[in-house]
Amino acid sequence: MKRKTIFALTASFVLAACSQNPFTGKKTLALVPNSQILPMAFQQYDQFLTENKVITNTADANMVKNVGRKIATAAERWLNANGYAGYLKDYKWEYNLVQDDAVNAWCMPGGKIVVYTGILPVTKSETGLAVVMGHEVAHALANHGQQRMSAGQLQQIGAVAGNVALSDNAEAQQIFNTAYGVGSQVGVMLPFSRSHETEADKIGLTLMAIAGYNPDEAPELWKRMKAKSGGQAPPEMLSTHPSSDTRIKNLTAWAGDAKAEAKKFGVTKFK
Ligand SMILES: [Zn+2]
Repeated sequence: MKRKTIFALTASFVLAACSQNPFTGKKTLALVPNSQILPMAFQQYDQFLTENKVITNTADANMVKNVGRKIATAAERWLNANGYAGYLKDYKWEYNLVQDDAVNAWCMPGGKIVVYTGILPVTKSETGLAVVMGHEVAHALANHGQQRMSAGQLQQIGAVAGNVALSDNAEAQQIFNTAYGVGSQVGVMLPFSRSHETEADKIGLTLMAIAGYNPDEAPELWKRMKAKSGGQAPPEMLSTHPSSDTRIKNLTAWAGDAKAEAKKFGVTKFK
């Protein structure tokens, strides 16, 4: 008994100091802990919603909430099955459709998702939307946003965290929004690295499959996205998520693995 308790204490100490991300398997040192980042994200998210037109009670708005809930449930189920129950206990999932022609979507830490109406003609179906939302949620779960900040930027955010409202510090606010892909102004869009994109694709594919959506649709979505890149106004989504034939090839190759993972959760039929 006693030995077990000591082991548990030691394990939780190690976890806090340098936590291994269950989704990427990588050990990352969170310089600004979730306890400080999450309240900032919640505050920024609420501010974004007050400054933009949120669509409610339409078929599309309900679809966004429905897909979001299923992706979130898939993430929780996967974590519970892999020994990480409670990992997302501080998440406050929210899924909103915002009136904006931008072909974009993002997820802040803590599960705060925005889908722009402009992306719906590209996602086309509930499954297409699940591809995008699975991918965005995956970026949040893999903690990519914070990894995109430089040491100096993290220090700046860290200094603001817990003291002043982020909205009182324009510079810190911009660092935060850029890191999490918020905003559609040209010039502040920062592309995710290729390795982050690959991680998000892989995790997102598994999540959508566990949620009951056909992972074979993922490469199709990115083909449609890519087809729009040649025009006068390329999708904002592509500025933050640069696409390539490699992505489409990878997603096609990984769809089978995602289905096999879903089968472990009793999911064998896909929408
Ligand atoms: Zn991405």
